[in-house]
Amino acid sequence: MDFKRAKSKAKKIRRQRTLLMVYGVAVTIALFVSLYHNNNVKASVDSENFVDEAAEDIALVDDSLVLEENLKQPKESDIIQEIAVENEAPEIRNAEDMVTMPTKALSEDLIIVAQGDNFMGILTKLGVDYGQANTIYNAYKKVYDARKIKVGQEILISSLSDPRYQDMVSVTKIVTEPVSGTRYIVEKNSDGKYEARVEQDDLKNDVKKVAGVINGTVMGSMKNAGVPQSVVGNFINIFSFSVDFRRDIKAGDKFEVRYERKLSPNGDVVKTGDIIYAALTLGKRQMALYRFKDDSGTVDYYDEKGLALKKTLDLKPMEFKKARISSKFGRRFHPILKQYRMHSGVDYAAPMNTKVYASGDGVVTSAKWVGGYGNYITIRHNSEYSTGYGHLKSYAKGIRPGVRVKQGQLIAYVGSTGRSTGPHLHFEIIKNGQRVDPLKIKAATGENLTGAKLKAFQKVVAEIKAGDAKEQKVAEAR
Ligand SMILES: [Zn+2]
Repeated sequence: MDFKRAKSKAKKIRRQRTLLMVYGVAVTIALFVSLYHNNNVKASVDSENFVDEAAEDIALVDDSLVLEENLKQPKESDIIQEIAVENEAPEIRNAEDMVTMPTKALSEDLIIVAQGDNFMGILTKLGVDYGQANTIYNAYKKVYDARKIKVGQEILISSLSDPRYQDMVSVTKIVTEPVSGTRYIVEKNSDGKYEARVEQDDLKNDVKKVAGVINGTVMGSMKNAGVPQSVVGNFINIFSFSVDFRRDIKAGDKFEVRYERKLSPNGDVVKTGDIIYAALTLGKRQMALYRFKDDSGTVDYYDEKGLALKKTLDLKPMEFKKARISSKFGRRFHPILKQYRMHSGVDYAAPMNTKVYASGDGVVTSAKWVGGYGNYITIRHNSEYSTGYGHLKSYAKGIRPGVRVKQGQLIAYVGSTGRSTGPHLHFEIIKNGQRVDPLKIKAATGENLTGAKLKAFQKVVAEIKAGDAKEQKVAEAR
């Protein structure tokens, strides 16, 4: 059941709340007596027992009770009850049926969560007692933590109330759909226990295409074009090793992105998925990348020919490829300071004067003595990554701040300057300003596709292009 329907049903039920004054005088008095009797004898009664109790009570009606009633001189407002009638209400055939007719009122309340609301508060405001609200909350918790309700969220609450018991409310069902296509339901079963379940709509797969002109930053332009944050982030990641998003972007450059989505039956976006195609036109430079997932499930992006545009950082940027790791990233007992310290990089033991290379393409941001690092170089590769090189003996010719370097280019020589016990390269990866474990960065292989992988990839490219051709035909036909 969707909420729109639920809303109209709720209205309908409210409209049906009509005053029922169909009882004869005797029956009215009998009912009042039963109500009076119940209120006095049983202050709280399980809603399931309403019908039976009513029947029993009516059986007790005798002259003396009627007499007692007359003595009490009830006010009119005490007798008149607002009774909602469900469509399923039994037809009244005779006096006996009239007396045993259920008098519970079913209502459906569509609550829109407001600032400061909480689940328990919403229930108690509807007249549900705290104990019942708590039972419902606990049952619901098995599939949905109702503490997580958010402002604006809709909660449909079906309940029964019995006017004879000071409108005591018994919840029969609660439905909420915090994420389109997924409904969390808690419902009272025939044993009177609350049971929770999840209903999930079948979702439709779809590919969304967004293209636009860059005005300001790529991120801002894409967001303005309606591309979700997560997709924008991935788009920038995909190009991060081939584009410097601060330097290379000019007004009038263009982007295009296509990404997967999952839609609910009514068209709401339930989930955004992978980018399947990403393109940038920077001046005359055109870059288009296609997603390819290999048999092992590894996702990477390649140009039309299956060449990997994404260059990864070289994690051992030195001539001596056999260099062993003498110290890993993380907390360690410092051999000189004799205390536990965070080790912010990886140490590669290597002979003095071993050549040190740039880990990736980039710009040298510093090449100077920095305390414990001794001679230290940093290179900025893109808006996300920089690398650092410490304890260097000396710098290669021409290496100074502002100089552009290529991956694998000689930048320095291994030494033991600063706080160091012997010749080694202290290598750091700095991601968004934070030093991260170089051995744990998620680095794509950066390898070009060949053989069977290339064939499978070419199929993917052909499919995307075929989709484009079809789209163009439709556009021409209009
Ligand atoms: Zn180190």
